[in-house]
Order: sequence, then structure tokens, then C-alpha cells
Amino acid sequence: MFEANSDYLKLPGSYLFSTIAKKVAAYSKEHPDAKLVRLGIGDVTQPLPPAVIKALHKAVDEQADPATFRGYAPDLGYEFLRHAIAENSYRALGCDIADDEVFVSDGAKSDSGNIQEIFEKNNIIAVTDPVYPVYVDSNVMAGRTGTYDEKTTRWSDVVYMPCTEENGFCPDFPEKTPDVIYICSPNNPTGMALTKDQLQAWVDYANRNGAVIIFDSAYEAYISEDHIPHSIFECEGSRTCAIEIRSFSKNAGFTGLRLGATIIPKDLKDHNGQALYPLWARRHGTKYNGAPYIVQRAGEACYTNEGKQEIREMVGRYMKNAGFIKDSLAGMGYTVYGGVNSPYIWLKTPNNLTSWEFFDLLLNKANVVGTPGSGFGPSGEHFFRLTSFGTYEASVEAMERIRRL
Ligand code: PLP
Repeated sequence: MFEANSDYLKLPGSYLFSTIAKKVAAYSKEHPDAKLVRLGIGDVTQPLPPAVIKALHKAVDEQADPATFRGYAPDLGYEFLRHAIAENSYRALGCDIADDEVFVSDGAKSDSGNIQEIFEKNNIIAVTDPVYPVYVDSNVMAGRTGTYDEKTTRWSDVVYMPCTEENGFCPDFPEKTPDVIYICSPNNPTGMALTKDQLQAWVDYANRNGAVIIFDSAYEAYISEDHIPHSIFECEGSRTCAIEIRSFSKNAGFTGLRLGATIIPKDLKDHNGQALYPLWARRHGTKYNGAPYIVQRAGEACYTNEGKQEIREMVGRYMKNAGFIKDSLAGMGYTVYGGVNSPYIWLKTPNNLTSWEFFDLLLNKANVVGTPGSGFGPSGEHFFRLTSFGTYEASVEAMERIRRL
């Protein structure tokens, strides 16, 4: 007898980061003089690269001239950007991706939340634990909560794949064969990045089982080691089992500007033989009117030599923070993961404190804001996430305060 996973039968009370924001606001109200160091939310702090600013100005000026004014953008994206993405982020790596397999969007959050719409309601969804909450919440909101579909005699469900110290934060294949598998590498929150062999094993598993992998590469720019793939399309056989979601937020600082892309190969089908490319094209075209022209020109500028160099420098500055935070914590005796191919540092809480107890301790005694690991899933309990997206000075200050605890 199938037992629905009761944890998923209800929606979480509120989004993790809203809960943190409320706690921090309450603390600040009580302690108006406290100078908080915020290493919690994964938002960037460096301004946009000069090449992007230049492209934005130029594109804005074009809007004043009737000859170059742009109205509605093509709903799947301007060809100049689809080409730049396919050429630089895929074909340059040897991945066989055509320009028109790139769907431009306003970011990876909406794409990773919306992509479930092209899968059947009765599907089994596998997510890592801990997990970027959007994958779970969007499927629960779509009704995949352990319900039975009489027509297909199938149950929907969301199943967790624990990522622990024991398995090196690399998920094992789930007990229940899934239809859709979400993988984020480099991972938010653990900072783990799958090696080429590990990702190839997942591609082979998905092809063997007729499953589709949704690969979130939002942190691809932070990869520093050669054996870590930048795209799932570097793996053999991935065109028949993978969708990739990209973001311009964490590499180029577009968290406020908003730009992303989803790549769906034309040969990709679900387990019923339904091609997914036309479904996403239809979904995108029906519910989305395209990222703004000026923002797509800004995205194109990321792929110029100037843009690439500026992005490398920006990522380098965040990674300097990551290395500093990681080494400092390790020096204080903390067990620390991540921070090598990722802007996230994933540390074990001291003295077996729960994630929220450690959150309160840091907030109250060090005035440092981080993110409790348990907010990302049960396997995140007794872990804590710090980000390297602050300034170097803020990172140094945070480590000094934690040292004094
Ligand atoms: N995917 C992951 C794994 C993330 O951590 C985030 C943001 O924190 C996003 C997607 C959202 O990216 P975007 O800003 O492009 O919506």
C-alpha cells in the first residue's frame, strides 16, 4: 500500500526568507543601534559590470528614436541573446545546443517554479534534501501531494533525496522511481558541486528510467575545479533527459535587473513520449511576454570580452570572501563545506545546536544574520548557511564577531 509523504500534504506556513526577515526586523526594532552583518540571503552586493551599464544606456537611448524603438519582445527571446547564450555557454563547452533551444526569461526562480507545468499532475518528483525551496513549493502548489489519479492509476508525490555528510552531499538514487528530478549544482545551500562522473551517472539513471532532470546551473560561474561540469549538456545522452535553467543573477549581478534562460532540447520527451519543447514554447508564449529589450541587450553584453572579464573579476571578489569565511571558520574548529565551487559556506552547528538555535545565537550575540539549514529540508538540521555575497569588510567583521562568541 502506497503511503503518501504527509510532510508534503500541506504547504509550508511561509517562505523561509520571509520568516528570517521577520525575525531580523523584530530584533532590529528592539535593538535599533545594533549593526547587523547580513550573510543570509543570497543577494549580490557589487554593482553591475560597466559593460552591462554601457549596454543598458545604449539600449535605453534607442527607445527615444522611432527607428530603433522596440515594443513587445519576442516571447521566447531576441535572437541576438539566444545566439549569445547558446554559443558562449553551450557550444563553447562542446555542448550540442541550438540557438532556438534557448528560451529567454526573467530569471531562474520563475523558470524553476513554472517548469513543473509541462509535466503531468500524477508525476513523482524527486528533490534533494536540503533543497532550494522553490522546487518543492511549486510542485506542492500544483497539487503533487501524494494524490491518486484514477485515470492513470498513478500517485503523485514529492520524494526527498537526502544529501548528507555521509554521501558527500551528492544524492543517492531515490527508492521510488521518479518522473522528474531536480538537481542544482553547484548546490544551494550545501555548496556541493557534482563531478562529471557523478552527473553522468544521473543522466544514465534518468535515461534508463524515462525520467527528466531539471538541472539548475544558477551558480555555474563559481566553478573553480576542472572536473566539475558547467552544464548538464556536457554529459553524454543528456539531450534525451535534461532541461537546464540558467540565471544572470549570481554571475553578473542581475538580481534586480532580472534575466534567465531555460534550455530544452527538441529531442526531449517525457515518459509518455510527449515532446517537452513545444509544451514549454506554448506555455512561455501563452503566459509570458518576454524579458525587456534593454535587459536582453544587457545580457548580451555579458558575453563580450569586456563583460566576461568584468564578471570574472566580480565572481573572484565573492570567492575571495568565500575562501576567507571558510578558512576562518575551519580555523575556529567548525566543520565547513562548500565555498570552493560555490559562494555558499555550509557549516555544522557547534555543540549540536539546532539550526534555528544557532541562528538565534548568531543574531543575538554576534549580530550576524545567516540561514538555518533546516529551512532547506530535514537533512539541513544542525547545519547553517553563510553567503560570500557581502563585502570583504563585512565578511571579516562577521568572522571576528563569531570568533568572540
Ligand atoms: N536557483 C537557485 C538554486 C537559486 O539559489 C536562486 C536564487 O537564489 C535562483 C535559482 C533564482 O535565480 P534568479 O535570480 O535568476 O531568479
